[in-house]
Amino acid sequence: MHHFDLKDGVLHAEGVSLEALAETVGTPTYVYSSATLRRHYGLLREACDAHRDALGEALIAFAVKANSNLSVLATLARLGCGADTVSEGEIRRALAAGIPGERIIFSGVGKTDAELAFAIDQGVRQINVESSAELDRLIAVAADKSAAPAIAIRVNPKIGAGGHAKITTGGAGDKFGVPVEEAMALYARASASPHVTPVGLACHIGSQITDLAPLEAAFRVLRDMTEALRAQGHSVTRLDLGGGLGVPYYGDAATPSPADYIAMAARVLEGLNVETAFEPGRLMAANAGVLLSRVIQVNERTDGRRFLVLDAAMNDLMRPALYDAFHDLKPVRPVEGEALPYDVVGPVCETGDTFARDRDLPPLQAGDLVVFMSAGAYGAVMSGEYNTRPLAAEVLVDGARQAVIRPRPTYDEMFAREPMAGWL
Ligand SMILES: *Cc1c(COP(=O)(O)O)cnc(C)c1O
Repeated sequence: MHHFDLKDGVLHAEGVSLEALAETVGTPTYVYSSATLRRHYGLLREACDAHRDALGEALIAFAVKANSNLSVLATLARLGCGADTVSEGEIRRALAAGIPGERIIFSGVGKTDAELAFAIDQGVRQINVESSAELDRLIAVAADKSAAPAIAIRVNPKIGAGGHAKITTGGAGDKFGVPVEEAMALYARASASPHVTPVGLACHIGSQITDLAPLEAAFRVLRDMTEALRAQGHSVTRLDLGGGLGVPYYGDAATPSPADYIAMAARVLEGLNVETAFEPGRLMAANAGVLLSRVIQVNERTDGRRFLVLDAAMNDLMRPALYDAFHDLKPVRPVEGEALPYDVVGPVCETGDTFARDRDLPPLQAGDLVVFMSAGAYGAVMSGEYNTRPLAAEVLVDGARQAVIRPRPTYDEMFAREPMAGWL
């Protein structure tokens, strides 16, 4: 569900024509829909509230790494959304956007001492500890401050899932979390320390998961562990259920609804009496954004291959190159004529800079505008300036309003970040 629709023959983001926007802001540009972000948060909030008996006052903590633009975060902050963060920088972004420390979770496989100290100083809701070595360092950092931050142990339930091997995180061989037996021992060790306050368990098994079964299996592991820990006399009051629910990148793909997902969690945790947190990233942001791009030219080769060369490239949207990800491509103005197979590419000097092969598209010409759909998550956040291509601009739309929320840098601004060595 999103708010990118045709109006008067032109694709709009809510009330804003993408054709007009391309004229004023240029391309490539990410465009986000506030209404879509609000809708996704609202669906999850409503589902959680309907299952308050099983889920407690559930915290919906947006995974900041999916889209960390300050205006996107502030839009969610206004709704009461929390943040799942994986670096000091992301904690700083969440705070700057108005998300209070008590709604910020700090996760991540390699937090530095300085980052742990920063998180403690900011009074984050909880630090998710991902290894025995990290627990040792956290205890030392907290002892220095005479603090006792709330922690959850991130469990690796040996259930990996997700849309691609590179975005599976809960498998036995993946770098994330602590295996069940070790997590039990770690919880006991943490309980014995005056410098951390273990409050619960966390898991996050992967991303772009399109089947509830592996998520349900992981939640059951957390439930069983909670009961076992309590039987040993430990207090377990919170379960952080991670993110990972997939979105339909293909027009007709079926993915579980947020309501079914939350209802499943409620079923698994019924009667356990815990406070839950969910960490959706993709689910909140993917369909709330598009990448707007202009066709530079069409290369028709005598061997029959037809290349659609766009002004967006892998440095702007890395997912196809990194994960072979599929993004639907739509013309901003529908084009008449029979569909033709195109290889859709950017100008970067890498064969990996290919968005799609043999994609059937209506006949397109130089100057036409297109959008990559579902580009609001893991899009702009992964962009870079490879080939000295300025970072794509980002625009937030809200009804008929639009704001440039990250301007495209000028070349002077880009070069100013590289002071010349003094001897040159
Ligand atoms: C990436 C991540 C998420 C969000 O994953 P999505 O698939 O975008 O929902 C949630 N929690 C943690 C710990 C993560 O690393």
